[in-house]
Amino acid sequence: MKNKRGKTPSLITASSGRPEKSQAKKLRNCTRCKEAIVKGTDCFLIPKKSGGFTSKKSFCNECFREILEQSKKDLGLFEELLLETEGS
Ligand SMILES: [Zn+2]
Repeated sequence: MKNKRGKTPSLITASSGRPEKSQAKKLRNCTRCKEAIVKGTDCFLIPKKSGGFTSKKSFCNECFREILEQSKKDLGLFEELLLETEGS
């Protein structure tokens, strides 16, 4: 019988935390493209650990989409590796 493993960690949430959707409380700039995120518009916050504390980076919708696409590609790679392992 397998040991109880508890809650399954996720690659997305394990390291620094879960991205969240938010509304800009003041004028911000996207961390990636530096475009202005006007107060009150939707943006995405991605926690990033640096030093001893976690800061949240703001991203515009467009950049968050690209980050999401890249994450999917990365996940796909790992999925292939896993399949290779299982298939051998
Ligand atoms: Zn952006």
